[in-house]
Amino acid sequence: MLKQVTTLKGLEKKFDTLVYAAPENLFKKKLHTKVLPNAKWDLVDHALKSSTAGSKGTIINTWTGETTPSTFSVIMLPEKVSHYNSPARREQLYSQLTAIKTNKSKNIGIVISIDDPDMQLAVSCAVQRYTCYINRKVMAKEKTQVHLLVTDSEGSVLKMSDSIQSILDAMVLSIDIVNAPPSDLGPDAYAKLIRKTFEKRKHTSLTEIKGEELLKSNLSGIYNVGRGSNEKPRLIVVDYKPSSFKKTVVLVGKGLTYDTGGLSLKTDGNLVGMKMDLGGSAAVVGALDAIIKQEPKVRVIAALGVVENMIGPNSYKVDDIITMHSGKTVEINNTDAEGRVVLADCLSFTARKYNPDYIVDAATLTGAQMIATGRYFAGLMSNDAELESIMVNVGKKTGDLMCALPFAPEYFEDELMSELADMKNSAKDRFNAPSSAAAQFLFNHISDLDTPWAHIDMAGQAMCAKNIATGYGVALLAELVQSL
Ligand SMILES: [Zn+2]
Repeated sequence: MLKQVTTLKGLEKKFDTLVYAAPENLFKKKLHTKVLPNAKWDLVDHALKSSTAGSKGTIINTWTGETTPSTFSVIMLPEKVSHYNSPARREQLYSQLTAIKTNKSKNIGIVISIDDPDMQLAVSCAVQRYTCYINRKVMAKEKTQVHLLVTDSEGSVLKMSDSIQSILDAMVLSIDIVNAPPSDLGPDAYAKLIRKTFEKRKHTSLTEIKGEELLKSNLSGIYNVGRGSNEKPRLIVVDYKPSSFKKTVVLVGKGLTYDTGGLSLKTDGNLVGMKMDLGGSAAVVGALDAIIKQEPKVRVIAALGVVENMIGPNSYKVDDIITMHSGKTVEINNTDAEGRVVLADCLSFTARKYNPDYIVDAATLTGAQMIATGRYFAGLMSNDAELESIMVNVGKKTGDLMCALPFAPEYFEDELMSELADMKNSAKDRFNAPSSAAAQFLFNHISDLDTPWAHIDMAGQAMCAKNIATGYGVALLAELVQSL
């Protein structure tokens, strides 16, 4: 659906809809007339002169009276953004792209000029997300083709690398996983999809531990959360092991294919959109798909906790005490805080078995993340300051933004105090950074190991406010592996 274009020649006459986007500073340099000299700039000139990009960017849609293109849209992106944002202004670009008046065109050409060549990946991700967005209708017979070309600030074409292409392809995989209806992608179907994606890949092996077998591997956390479902819970480990490597990175993904909350049932309104509770695992699946194509000399192990949190006679209960993989005991005080129980087992299992140099988990973990860092920044918690800083920077490079939240056992351990077990699974004071307390819970299960670890809470990022998947995390995790 998204194709790259390699030459600017003749682009002005090639598509039903033609779009040009650049930051305001490049418009001031008149780069647009150099990049697309034969476009109908006279139609937008007046609007361009009288508009400013502001902080969100602006779009000018014009009708040309011709057929190719019938619409010519010009997007001016903000000249400056805050230091928390990506210099790619990825979110601003995506948001303006969704305002293109496509007039049902089936053939859109998008040309983007960027002022920092390192931002090619991030703007390409914005266009891929847009492409998935306009093709989101399940029953659509005809798909809209989007063609992309990116230039630097001098107007020279930037070729799309294989690495960027691999990430864009993987975003589609990840978005499809999150958008899939929960009855179409329960644990059985999801496991099948994962096997299909990774079996027969170069240097890659896959192990699946499911149902009662989980107990034999001491993975009681995963087992208990999933035992109320008709479909068996499982831990799927995909191991990309190149013939030589210096580092091992583990990526853990929360794959709750549906989260009813269990016996601590989510009430009606809160169930809407809970199919996205596999968003962390979808990011990891996508990232690994891209990584394997890139063939880095890093061993990358993906651990996916694929589980459905349902209500039934076999459901795990509030007041249950579970002995986790780490050997620590957990008193359940909320069956809706299930993701951390699943993840803790995934973390403990892989950290002990593979002794990685880094372990990173991605999860739609807490509603509190959206209060703390909002819709545009995932929450990042880490026991390692250097890893945290690398990740924040990779977030800016890819546009998958993150903001660090406190990791401080001295302040959050007490939140999980239990009289009967080593800890409870849900924090007692909801005004004491519940996202950090959830991270504390995870850390408790690997605290004896000293492994640099980071936890991405992407509860507000897996889907946008309209309940449509975003592909968040694919570019982030794939690039992170290259940066460690
Ligand atoms: Zn839950």
